[in-house]
Amino acid sequence: MKNESHNGFIMNKNDKDFKNIANEEWRKKLTPEQYRVLREKGTETPGTGKFYKSFEKGMYVCGACGQELFSSETKFDSDCGWPSFDRSLEGNVEFRNDDSLGMRRTEVLCSNCKSHLGHVFDDGPKETTGKRFCINSVSLNFKPQK
Ligand SMILES: [Zn+2]
Repeated sequence: MKNESHNGFIMNKNDKDFKNIANEEWRKKLTPEQYRVLREKGTETPGTGKFYKSFEKGMYVCGACGQELFSSETKFDSDCGWPSFDRSLEGNVEFRNDDSLGMRRTEVLCSNCKSHLGHVFDDGPKETTGKRFCINSVSLNFKPQK
């Protein structure tokens, strides 16, 4: 519920301070490249990501907060230049319309910390979901299956 009190000025100030503190913490926690992609919606150079052609068994987690996002079982070999998955773990990612760069795309974010992961497209494997989650390697960490 929206708080419509008269102290709008103070609330706005707090919001801004909170955002600044959070960004400072992310900067300490993340490498500059992780920060650029996860927190500033950057994109890693195609074909350079460490998970692009990796097909080990395990779980891909958020590079910022560690929430589980994608199973290696849903990863497929695409030639798009980024790690590609045909589905995410239910409820662990969020979607947002992204009209930047003159394109209509769907942004994929971590549902826990709202970090930018990549985009989802409709040109994935027809035999499964038809979706291609095109995700930056630097947005992910990998936990190998034990
Ligand atoms: Zn996260």
